[in-house]
Amino acid sequence: MTLIKTEALVLKTIPFQETSSIVRLFTKEQGKISVIAKGARRMKSALRGYLEPLNYIEAIYYFKITRDIQTLSKVDLLQSFFSNTRDIEYTIYGTAVLEVIDKVVRDHQYDDKIFNLAVQILKNMDLHTDQCIILFADFLLAMADILGYKLDTSVCSQCKNRLTTAIYNPGSGRLVCNDCGRYTSSAHKLSEYEMQFLNDLSRHNLDTEINISAEPSAADRIIQMLIRYLSHHLDYPLNLKSLSLLSEISQ
Ligand SMILES: [Zn+2]
Repeated sequence: MTLIKTEALVLKTIPFQETSSIVRLFTKEQGKISVIAKGARRMKSALRGYLEPLNYIEAIYYFKITRDIQTLSKVDLLQSFFSNTRDIEYTIYGTAVLEVIDKVVRDHQYDDKIFNLAVQILKNMDLHTDQCIILFADFLLAMADILGYKLDTSVCSQCKNRLTTAIYNPGSGRLVCNDCGRYTSSAHKLSEYEMQFLNDLSRHNLDTEINISAEPSAADRIIQMLIRYLSHHLDYPLNLKSLSLLSEISQ
């Protein structure tokens, strides 16, 4: 048994037995793991309150390779994202980041690029809550890149002509020009404005402040396209419950 100390994002917490919790963590050192937090729901527990989703923590746990669930020993809170906003609409985009990670990263799949991306995006969302929708699109595009499915936004994937407007081809999972995509449903068309936004995102360096603006409806269409794009390349549907909650709220 080894004692591991690592930064982690709390993805999900489920009550377990009388006073404990099972917590899914995305750790910097070991990827996605589950830990049991014994007695964490007792009033006097030192773990209480730290194990909520959207918390960025330093966790110390006992690791045994033969166990599915590791034993949490100690937690320090590094940052609680969205603690300064009551606007659920913003928080939903942060939750959607966690949901993508939970669905895309396999257990024990170690990837510090994904970890650093998630922390960076959540920190930026926390600082600029009004930019959450743009930052979420930024996150999806960067995720596609890290997973090895970089989206080419510059040229048509068939005829290689430069793209100003484009059509997302759901069959190939690529962008094509209007000519090559003339038999594709118009639902997948991206306007010049939407393509400009997508190009701005792909040029954006994640370490720098985001100074990209877009109409929320355009950002939303790009997000929907990127979800279809990721689902196509991952080969399973990336249905995000958090985003469907968003459309319920806005109705
Ligand atoms: Zn073409």
